[in-house]
Amino acid sequence: MNSKIISLIFALLSLYLTDAFPLVKRSCSKTYKVVKGDTCYKIWTKNGLSESQFRKLNSGIDCSNLKVGASICLKGSSSTSTSSSCKSSYTIKSGDTCYKIWKNYGLSESQFRSLNSGIDCSNLKKGSSVCVSGSSSGSSSCSSHYTIKKGDTCYKIYKNYGMSETAFKNINPGINCSNLHSGDKVCVKSSTITKKKTSTKKTSSKKKTTTTKKSTSTTSASSTTFTWHRECVNSNNYALTFDDGVYLYDGDLLDLLKKKGIKASFFINGNNMSDIKSKSVRDIIKRMYNEGHNVLSHTWSHSDLTTLSYSSARSELKLLEDEIYSIIGKRPKSIRPPFMAGVDSSSVVEMLKYYGYRYGILWYVDTEDWKNKGNVDTVLNFIKQGLANSSKPIILNHSYYQGITKEKLLNLVEQEIDYLASNGLKGVNMETCLGHSVYRYDDEGFPN
Ligand SMILES: [Zn+2]
Repeated sequence: MNSKIISLIFALLSLYLTDAFPLVKRSCSKTYKVVKGDTCYKIWTKNGLSESQFRKLNSGIDCSNLKVGASICLKGSSSTSTSSSCKSSYTIKSGDTCYKIWKNYGLSESQFRSLNSGIDCSNLKKGSSVCVSGSSSGSSSCSSHYTIKKGDTCYKIYKNYGMSETAFKNINPGINCSNLHSGDKVCVKSSTITKKKTSTKKTSSKKKTTTTKKSTSTTSASSTTFTWHRECVNSNNYALTFDDGVYLYDGDLLDLLKKKGIKASFFINGNNMSDIKSKSVRDIIKRMYNEGHNVLSHTWSHSDLTTLSYSSARSELKLLEDEIYSIIGKRPKSIRPPFMAGVDSSSVVEMLKYYGYRYGILWYVDTEDWKNKGNVDTVLNFIKQGLANSSKPIILNHSYYQGITKEKLLNLVEQEIDYLASNGLKGVNMETCLGHSVYRYDDEGFPN
């Protein structure tokens, strides 16, 4: 009787302890101290981690409230990373690189990294072991690979293989689509997915490819992914974007864009520099849309989404959506959150996903036009630096900043367009830039 009670207490106590101290379970072999200005996003990208790896290593972390001086785990102890679900491991020899190893074992980089979460490829230790094959139940069972060629994008690859973006990302966990390396392998067919397909489509084998394509396109329609974008999918495209309008000079800007044959994207507010209910503003928005530009969300009143309650965030989004819909008959599923706030907040991302957004549009080049007041040399220099690393940048400009004049705006934009054209780049709207519709399907409203 007594011993039963004691063991019950112990069982409860150990349950409580594992629940109350989830971090204790993982031992961390490399830590980092948060400095001023850090965000989770900054930390995981700087250290070559995916968001999920980062979150696994720091379970329960509150990214919207990072404390300076707090310690962050960047790497688990080798025992935790290999022991759990590793079917076969390999002992590192001198001269090995991660690349060599994953190539040898026919793995993609993302598969290798998901088997060895937190691995530091720049510092492989001779004699330590890495996992080269996961347990068969996992997503790592890939039945067909594709080798990346120059100019490939994730979009191109999964389209070619008739897959949805979600399916592709599921079988290539941790893949960094903005940084594909030619020669690397990605998975284009997982054995678990194939089983499902063949069992449901047993009847007509001739029509198999078309039916598969149909079924994947419906999954992508109902998929709930949300991705941040800084670049277009195709080289030699760029996307000019204008924030914070509608403002006084957008009509003149549209004239210039028309003259130059450039399509752009406008991240507008409903109630910021102008009132979206006024006729002149509505006419400009209609013109933007009719002339082939994209009209996308920058929230109703330029709010920081990380500071709002769920219900006020919803109205910030919905008020603008409803007005845009009443003008152009489309609801954006693309958004640029003001101040970039929420980029590393999973709660903001979850909320955006819930409300039907699929693309968060950031930028590769920030012209800082608001800061340099449209200084052409400064801005062209930023663009030049951007082009050194990307041939398909998304570029951030503003319809309004303090001190803007029509001349400053038009002069700067014209010079940007000419400079980009002289580098062989073509200005496209966000839809062409991403290779996806940036608006919702007609039957998708705004969720409650
Ligand atoms: Zn803004």
